[in-house]
Amino acid sequence: MNVSDELRSLEATGIYRLPGSRAAFLDPVRLLNESYRRFRLVPSAYYSRSFGPSNQGGDAQGERTAPYPERKKRKRKRQPKPRELNAVERIAEARHQEARDLLISAHKSLLEAKDLLEFLPGMVKGDECMQDVQTSSENNFVEIGSSWRAPLCEMTICFQKPHGQGEAGPCHVQRRSSTLFNKIISTEENDESEGEFQSRLYILPKGGCFLMTDFKHVHDLIPDNSNDGYNLIVIDPPWENGCVRQKEAYPTLPNRYLLYLPVQELADPAGALLVLWITNREKLRRFVEDELLPSWGVKDPTEFYWLKVKSDGSLIGDLDLFHHRPYECLLLGYINVNREAEPGSNFKFLQASQVIMSVPGAHSRKPPLQKILSEFIPGSKPPRCIELFARELGSGWTSWGNEPLHFQDSMYFTEK
Ligand code: SAM
Repeated sequence: MNVSDELRSLEATGIYRLPGSRAAFLDPVRLLNESYRRFRLVPSAYYSRSFGPSNQGGDAQGERTAPYPERKKRKRKRQPKPRELNAVERIAEARHQEARDLLISAHKSLLEAKDLLEFLPGMVKGDECMQDVQTSSENNFVEIGSSWRAPLCEMTICFQKPHGQGEAGPCHVQRRSSTLFNKIISTEENDESEGEFQSRLYILPKGGCFLMTDFKHVHDLIPDNSNDGYNLIVIDPPWENGCVRQKEAYPTLPNRYLLYLPVQELADPAGALLVLWITNREKLRRFVEDELLPSWGVKDPTEFYWLKVKSDGSLIGDLDLFHHRPYECLLLGYINVNREAEPGSNFKFLQASQVIMSVPGAHSRKPPLQKILSEFIPGSKPPRCIELFARELGSGWTSWGNEPLHFQDSMYFTEK
């Protein structure tokens, strides 16, 4: 196999930029592993949902049938006549048609990247046998955090300290205890630590902090000094949505509550990039564009797409299936930003839509975005980053939600 520069870049950085298109393929495991020194995520635990090769898409070397046939050429099976779309659905369909060419061209460039397609199955499988991701015995932070026990819960944090002044050399283990809920917990500055809570271990990346609270306490995140505001704000709300409710993956919030998120107060007055994950529901899109983003001071957002692929590069579903699109949308916009870059800065004002592709992990788990967006983030470097409704931590990030430790459980990691 000829290894391209792009594949080398994927191995080194977690990002494969697809030449000639506004698209990139990400390996979230490699991107997340940049936050760890002594531990690493186990690929088979991250890619725990089975998105194996598809019958339709063919294998990496084989002939592929088009996953997005031209509508007029599609052979109709004998199926009940689809009902007419209503007015709102027609708008959603028109929106899909607008995105379709960009999505197809991104996916075609992925299918043309033969070295990447050969690399993908091994990347997803990893070196070790499938780790047993036993979700049944996990701590349920949402439940504990809303019970009478929450104020009594403590986490014991163990970390290694070098004996002498320098970082190298022998270390000794130190312990500290911290109230777990409703309190900002900073992780160690120079090394990851291990948090123990109710007989389970959590791997805490260095140089980050988290706040595990309900929405009611989100204002505790507002920095005392506005100059400590954030340059990248990622929000993945628990939108009200039939699908999530059915699966009971996590509790949802009434959409209008989001109007009370203190986004302006969190943003760096010198400029912030806001990223909002949304669902494909048209009603939600209207609320977000007409009310929510304007209330946060975000104008003219740019749309990105996260296109989900299997380990053979085929889409996880039919691109044109109305209620089950194989992609999700994210809206990106600026708060307090001057379009003109400061002299000497490498900041670029985001203008065009892009497609991000990856093999999805657990239900609703989104790929990490900081690196792929780095040139579009205003302000000083490294940027200050915050994730609202987070389920994992990262170096240099503040992570808030009612379960930001969810994916920090040691069952997702192995020691290096
Ligand atoms: N971005 C996350 C990821 O990649 O894994 C997924 C976030 S998920 C869409 C929404 C999160 O919001 C869930 O963890 C859910 O428990 C949390 N959430 C729901 N209601 C909440 C509330 N009232 N306060 C704080 N967090 C809440």
